[in-house]
Amino acid sequence: METEHKSAKRGSQSERQEHGDQASEGAGKLYVVATPIGNLGDISARALAVLAQADLVAAEDTRTTGHLLAHHGIVAKLVALHEHNERERAAELVARMRSGKTIALVSDAGTPGISDPGALLVARAMEAGIMVCPIPGANAAIAALSAAGLDAPHFLFYGFLPVKPAGRRAALASLRELPYALVFYEAPHRVTECVADLAATLGGEREIVIARELTKLFEAIHRCRLDQAGAWLAADPNRQRGEFVLIVSGAPEQKQQGLPAEAERVLRLLLAELPLKQSAALGAAITGARKNELYQRALAMRDGAEEE
Ligand code: SAM
Repeated sequence: METEHKSAKRGSQSERQEHGDQASEGAGKLYVVATPIGNLGDISARALAVLAQADLVAAEDTRTTGHLLAHHGIVAKLVALHEHNERERAAELVARMRSGKTIALVSDAGTPGISDPGALLVARAMEAGIMVCPIPGANAAIAALSAAGLDAPHFLFYGFLPVKPAGRRAALASLRELPYALVFYEAPHRVTECVADLAATLGGEREIVIARELTKLFEAIHRCRLDQAGAWLAADPNRQRGEFVLIVSGAPEQKQQGLPAEAERVLRLLLAELPLKQSAALGAAITGARKNELYQRALAMRDGAEEE
């Protein structure tokens, strides 16, 4: 394919070497192509070139992808690959790539394999020594994060929470202490109950960003305290419609109260054998705790001020 040859020519010797090592001789290729999450213009020139030139486009829903391709004037041979047939289809598609065919994998929206089918085909292709190339583009989680305005250097992408309330609350409880922004996908008919569980489990004082219908006509991004989000959704039924990404700010940092348990233990042992000042100095060297803090604590221990 032209796209591939051009990029290979531009790539460094080591990049070319790496690609050469990965691919089986004479085999085709698997392109994992991101498509728009709403606005049909959100697709890269490279993605369009790959889709136009692939021997086969494996699509989650051939009608949805057919519509996208028609919009861009692309005629392609489509084959369905979705969660119900991925296993059998993957074997068939790998056989075709082994015989030299190039396949472009797309999902209904955004990046394949991200809360969407695709991972199995990619794994099978890799096992067969077929080169796999991502063609990056739209993704709802990243689009929402980019416009969330949260000071979140780290985030955890969770995707869809369990559908049943008990499972959802258990999943949320396991995330409660994490100091990372949490990113969820949610369906419109569950968004209200999901937001109520987020507030109840994670704490109402945290911030939430509700990103709805991104890149579409009724796009809306609302940021508020988690305990105010339910009222905001309820105030207008339109706010509960469409597709949602929910982002919750990370757990607030726990301020360490007193000395870490290990420093406390070491100090006690040292104090049993050594004078106070020496215990604090040695304790600092052993545990990395501050000497002065250890000294103060040692004083309190000596004076019996602490609760034993
Ligand atoms: N693979 C996709 C991606 O890269 O983002 C995600 C597919 S997942 C099946 C669909 C979910 O993504 C929706 O239920 C919604 O939570 C989120 N989503 C997709 N498009 C969206 C949009 N335009 N605005 C907000 N959320 C969206």
